[in-house]
Amino acid sequence: MNIRHKHKAAFHKEYGKPLVIEDVITPIPKDEEVLLKTISVGICHSDVHIWKGEASWPLPMIPCHEVIGRVAVKGDRVPENVRIGETAIFYYAVYTEEDKYTRRGLTQHAKTMKHYMGGLQEYILIPHYKFLVNADGLKDLPAAAPLGCAALSAYGAVKKIRHEVEPDDYVAVIGLGGLGIFALQWIKTFVPQVNIIGIDIREEALNFSSRIVKVDELINASKEDPAKAIENITRGEGVKAVIDFVGSSETLSTYIKTLSPLGIYVLVGLAGIRGLTLPSSFTILDLECKIQGNSMGSLPDLYDVVDFARRGRLNYIDVVTKRWRFNAEEINTAFKELHEGKVLGRQVIVFE
Ligand SMILES: [Zn+2]
Repeated sequence: MNIRHKHKAAFHKEYGKPLVIEDVITPIPKDEEVLLKTISVGICHSDVHIWKGEASWPLPMIPCHEVIGRVAVKGDRVPENVRIGETAIFYYAVYTEEDKYTRRGLTQHAKTMKHYMGGLQEYILIPHYKFLVNADGLKDLPAAAPLGCAALSAYGAVKKIRHEVEPDDYVAVIGLGGLGIFALQWIKTFVPQVNIIGIDIREEALNFSSRIVKVDELINASKEDPAKAIENITRGEGVKAVIDFVGSSETLSTYIKTLSPLGIYVLVGLAGIRGLTLPSSFTILDLECKIQGNSMGSLPDLYDVVDFARRGRLNYIDVVTKRWRFNAEEINTAFKELHEGKVLGRQVIVFE
């Protein structure tokens, strides 16, 4: 078997400090485990929260959870149909026991669910083959890593508004980064009859997203009062749904007021990781609005996401704007640029 005994892995050793690359022993998979040879990993904003110490993740750790790779070695209870050399995207909300949620396909709510990190290394041990979604046939494998979190979380968020909106309603998407651009695409796919308002504070993010998805209105919230702009666009009706990929107290208090009665506010972004303040009771009571969280998506959702990408119904390739190599300098630049808000779309680190 052409597997080295050691491989290179990138570690967070101290919060906010540069990552370091070290040799680690390459694990040998047993039972249902699979050793995946990494093709690429995406860097997610939650990786930056962990890096800064905001997510209280114990160190040292190998970050990143958007992973695509090739099956390198199989444990002896991995079935025939999982083939050596096949490509797969990792579903990182792993769980150890089936329960009433997993049986309904709501795997992200499994009682034993844990977010599994460790993508930023040449080989990653996958705890069970069922968390691998075959990716063969995807046109651009290195660009496909973000399907495992960014595209999936946006898919989960859009599913939450799907049955809440009617033709000609307005939907606002706050934050047009990696997830926001996927959300615009999912809205076009699932509720194409609504009017979409895309909002960001970066002109270049607005321009970038409009090159990938054509939306009805764009608002630069650093240049104009977004609440007023929404009022004008919707002729005072407000939006039926907001999907908030920023998730700060500021975005929540600004945009919840733009909802029409019985509207829905989907929170996805983690900016309020240390606490979130709700606006006045009356805002919520009078509107009878719904505030719903979104925790990525389910394993069945990931099958859908990969399928859409494979059939060319989801543009995941142009969402990736930077492809870094796996070395300390480029990895640290990638983290720094995401932290500083300089990244458009998604960036990936490519191993092969
Ligand atoms: Zn993520």
